[in-house]
Amino acid sequence: SDGSPPGQESRPRPRISVCVRKRPLNPRELERRELDVVSVPHGDVVMVREAKQRLDLSRYLENQVFRFDRAFDATATNELVYRHTAQPLVETVFRRGTATCFAYGQTGSGKTHTMGGDLSAASQDFSKGLYALVARDVFCRLRRPSCEKLELRVYGAFFEIYGGKVYDLLNGRNRLRVLEDAKQQVQVVGLQEQEVASVEDVIKLIEVGNRARTSGQTSANTHSSRSHAVFQIILRARGNLHGKFSLVDLAGNERGADTGNSNKQTRLEGAEINKSLLALKECIRALGYNKAHTPFRASKLTQVLRDSFIGENSCTCMIATISPGLRSCEHTLNTLRYANRVK
Ligand code: ADP
Ligand code: MG
Repeated sequence: SDGSPPGQESRPRPRISVCVRKRPLNPRELERRELDVVSVPHGDVVMVREAKQRLDLSRYLENQVFRFDRAFDATATNELVYRHTAQPLVETVFRRGTATCFAYGQTGSGKTHTMGGDLSAASQDFSKGLYALVARDVFCRLRRPSCEKLELRVYGAFFEIYGGKVYDLLNGRNRLRVLEDAKQQVQVVGLQEQEVASVEDVIKLIEVGNRARTSGQTSANTHSSRSHAVFQIILRARGNLHGKFSLVDLAGNERGADTGNSNKQTRLEGAEINKSLLALKECIRALGYNKAHTPFRASKLTQVLRDSFIGENSCTCMIATISPGLRSCEHTLNTLRYANRVK
């Protein structure tokens, strides 16, 4: 079922779509001959073989089956994932709306690879991630004659939320304040918005932001696993906000469980991540019908994304990324259960 048949195009788009993406076994997993326990038997089904133990301590595998709007196996390219997740949302920002795409999953499962700031890849090709693909199609759509009289301009912003605080990745990790006015409008005060005129400009911003994200850190992945990164493409018509596309590379969901045998700093960060991912789940579940009770103030993440949940014309997608290995099974099931709840 690829696309809707003619005549059904006027059907309102669901406000949330949830997809799952499985990554290939990585070299380390291959080396230790880790079992691949995840399969995608259909384009919308994910199956996980979960190891269980009987009372007599013998082990067996039990199939857990989940259905989503779409499920991608390890052969899927970023372009394919894009086509079924963020691309249908590009139109929203040309209709004065807010589009939001989340990458949710365990650290190492492919969130950043999907979004397009792959820090670990030898060749850092950002042109194939969702940040750049969204930018490509925004610039393409902008060239339509119907757009010209609007005099739309395009800006990029890139910030991260770490321990409940907001840092500008395009401005030396400058700490930013979040303000809410009497009309509940939320503002990230002083956030840099840099005008961009091409995909190349956008890629430069991604590079600057990624460098800022890792500066002064001992390991790129330990830091990025504990912070949410938000990349935004903003359209303005004569200075006024016209549309906004936010792409959110969430903190590793396993970090929310960092509460027990760790140091105080790690525990506090874990509690903060847990709080924000729970708030995100509740806000997405309230999408479209429960505006008065959308708990967007419950975390900094959901507060700065207020428009994504309460805006008049907001569309959202979530890409849940999962690791295929047996050792990741518990985290994989946690990810799938969470994604299942926001559908
Ligand atoms: P996360 O951001 O979720 O912590 P990463 O995106 O950094 O995870 O992915 C971890 C590693 O796995 C990286 O080296 C990345 O290049 C690789 N990887 C992730 N997803 C894929 C994929 N679909 N195909 C190939 N390699 C992938
Ligand atoms: Mg990452």
